[in-house]
Amino acid sequence: MNLLLNALVVSGLLSLSAFQTGQTPAGTAQKSVRVAQGEVGRWAGNCLRCSLEKRVWPAVNGTCYYPIDMEMKAGSYTISRRTTGGKLETAQLIVTEKPCRPEDFPNFPKKEYINVSPENRKRATREAAEVKPLISYQASVRPAVFDLPIGKPASPLPRGEGNFGACRTFNGQARDRHTGQDYPLTESKPVLSVANGRVRLAANQFYSGNAVYIDHGNGLISEYFHLKSFSVKPGQTVQKGQEIGRVGQTGRVTGPHLHFGVRWHGACINPGFLLIDPADLPEVK
Ligand SMILES: [Zn+2]
Repeated sequence: MNLLLNALVVSGLLSLSAFQTGQTPAGTAQKSVRVAQGEVGRWAGNCLRCSLEKRVWPAVNGTCYYPIDMEMKAGSYTISRRTTGGKLETAQLIVTEKPCRPEDFPNFPKKEYINVSPENRKRATREAAEVKPLISYQASVRPAVFDLPIGKPASPLPRGEGNFGACRTFNGQARDRHTGQDYPLTESKPVLSVANGRVRLAANQFYSGNAVYIDHGNGLISEYFHLKSFSVKPGQTVQKGQEIGRVGQTGRVTGPHLHFGVRWHGACINPGFLLIDPADLPEVK
């Protein structure tokens, strides 16, 4: 050991164990990952269970995924993983801000969505309450019946509108942020389940029109809105690539398209990140 290192160890600025293991002084050796709001981070290799602060979930085929809600506060959080060997490791998750893109509909044609009647308001509240348990974090989830990347919700799938998370105004009135990605597809095109799963809800809703929600296990739910029609019912098991309905323009829309969204462990995330090679997701290092 040279004199400087010796002095640092003696003065307590550098611990001997840190020196011996080749680590830098306390804190700087901690593993970390930076993930933007609405995106997904991962920790690969021999993972069994994963946690983000107080929320815990199982790994998917040995990898921990950390879906970050589009509205999760930017900042530093603690994540951890339990390996198949029983080892518990922690890392720092840095959530970075992703500003929402404005999207305005100045002359929205369906007036019932601009001046919402008390009946429709009541209906929308009831439907939101029905959907809430499906899209919220659950402490206990069914085993995953998917792996990443998931399949495409249409074939071929055109480029999305890039409007995930958009801050929207309809005729000048601010509304909730856009929870999915819109794909420009013509009416009656088949809509496909992106993975094996079980239909949780298939119903006509005020805002989402004909909507299908599929549970893929591990707390992953996929959503398909504004369908012309759907061909599945709640409780039904579906396969990856199976037709579940047709593209339409029901609900709050200006024209035919597919709205595709995903919720994972209660987080509303950009579904595009589940369609890419998971090796391209930001990784804990
Ligand atoms: Zn949409």
